[in-house]
Amino acid sequence: MKKKVLVIGAGLAGSEAAYQLACRDFAVTLLEMRPEKQTPVHKGGLFGELVCSNSLKSTKPESAAGMLKAELAALHSMVYECALKHRVLAGGALAVDRDAFALEITRRIGGMPQIDVVRREALSIEREARGFDAVVIATGPLTSDALASDLSSLIGGDFLAFYDAAAPIVDAESLDFAKLFVQSRYEEEGAGDYLNAPFTQESYVRFEEALIGARRVIAKDFETKELFSACQPIEEIARKGHDAMRFGPLKPVGLTDPSTGRRPWAALQLRAENADKTCYNLVGCQTNLTFGEQERVFRLVPGLEHADFVRFGVMHRNTFIDAPRLLDSHNRLHVDSRRAAVAAGDLPPLYVVGQLAGTEGYCEAIRSGLHGALAVAADLRGVSLPLLPEETAFGALLSYATNPETKGYQPMHVNFGIMKPLEKPVRNKGARYEAYARRGGEALGCYVEELRQAGLMEGLDGAE
Ligand SMILES: Cc1cc2nc3c(=O)[nH]c(=O)nc-3n(C[C@H](O)[C@H](O)[C@H](O)COP(=O)(O)OP(=O)(O)OC[C@H]3O[C@@H](n4cnc5c(N)ncnc54)[C@H](O)[C@@H]3O)c2cc1C
Repeated sequence: MKKKVLVIGAGLAGSEAAYQLACRDFAVTLLEMRPEKQTPVHKGGLFGELVCSNSLKSTKPESAAGMLKAELAALHSMVYECALKHRVLAGGALAVDRDAFALEITRRIGGMPQIDVVRREALSIEREARGFDAVVIATGPLTSDALASDLSSLIGGDFLAFYDAAAPIVDAESLDFAKLFVQSRYEEEGAGDYLNAPFTQESYVRFEEALIGARRVIAKDFETKELFSACQPIEEIARKGHDAMRFGPLKPVGLTDPSTGRRPWAALQLRAENADKTCYNLVGCQTNLTFGEQERVFRLVPGLEHADFVRFGVMHRNTFIDAPRLLDSHNRLHVDSRRAAVAAGDLPPLYVVGQLAGTEGYCEAIRSGLHGALAVAADLRGVSLPLLPEETAFGALLSYATNPETKGYQPMHVNFGIMKPLEKPVRNKGARYEAYARRGGEALGCYVEELRQAGLMEGLDGAE
């Protein structure tokens, strides 16, 4: 008897997961609510519909996005193959003809006898899971309200977010440490967990004016309702009056600038995002400015003149779980994070993949679906899943997103800022990126070989 796996959601992650599981000879049921029920942004019934841009980002091998594509290729991602097949010209990026791309994914999945496609909305995980050996939840950032509420009662309401209100994160290597100082409020200078960017009155006014005048992303209708009630974007605070920011997120109380011996006019605090302190979050600066404007405006902050952004601030509708507290490295919900019925063994193992699992971006969702499928295959076959090396792009993201030490997790793209530092630091940016890519490529080669030895790469040929 074939083991049965239910995949809920046929977006980027779910389509990839279903395909990979079918190739490994599991009996897959793929549940998709469209076209009967749409999300606020999807338009049709095709699988893998891109909801916004048609770009899957850079193909440059020495970029984090390029490294991720090398992983997708090495692991025979079907969705990535469809993207390459329906590529359109876009300089150094991989852009696709979105309709042909989605049609191809739908056609390939429809042609696989191991996949039973069911078109309806999943309302209850417990009910849907009956009779399956594993369930993969891949319903994305716009998971239907009914399922989101069901998930919330399963994992606990505190562990499910509906909006992403994130401040920009910058690469530590790009900061001017001569202008910043280390201090937590009311502690001695040099002590504490924060870097502080001190403003003079003049630099504060310049920053404030730039924030107020900058271009913003217009929130979609379905996003405007509750979006700003939880927290205010920094540019909205700036609009409230000259002193609003310095009595709010940029307050300087308890800080002493060592270069003047006095409290600065205002201060922006930067908090390390990881134990290696390779990237820093701009505390309190959640923003709705366009990405280009974020670069221009936040570079006016003293010490950030040459900042490289590893993640831009965003404020948009986005359903995602608190991955560091809920998921293990197999993208599987911890048993103790689930309610009594689940802990008692009434439900098969539940895996969460794609943006719902706290990644951000198209290729990240595809890669997450692929990783989840490998984990399900290993678990159901009783073999151990080779550890995904942290030196790979997705390995770095997964390790960050499932590390219980990660606080206040916000979904992220793959980026060099969260990668394990190189053994020998490389100052030159281009050479550093090359070194990351080389190291990642070697780790990927070993990982694929380990998957092969575990019998997890069999059955990938001839599915088309
Ligand atoms: C408005 C918006 C714009 C974005 N723009 C970009 C961008 O330009 N570039 C980028 O890289 N990333 C973008 N993202 C982020 C992310 O990369 C995409 O959302 C990506 O599609 C996520 O993949 P996924 O497989 O996790 O979810 P999705 O691709 O959204 O797939 C989820 C699927 O689950 C289905 N589903 C939901 N609920 C149920 C249910 N109860 N029962 C059955 N089926 C269900 C949905 O219909 C959908 O088909 C955007 C996100 C949003 C919300």
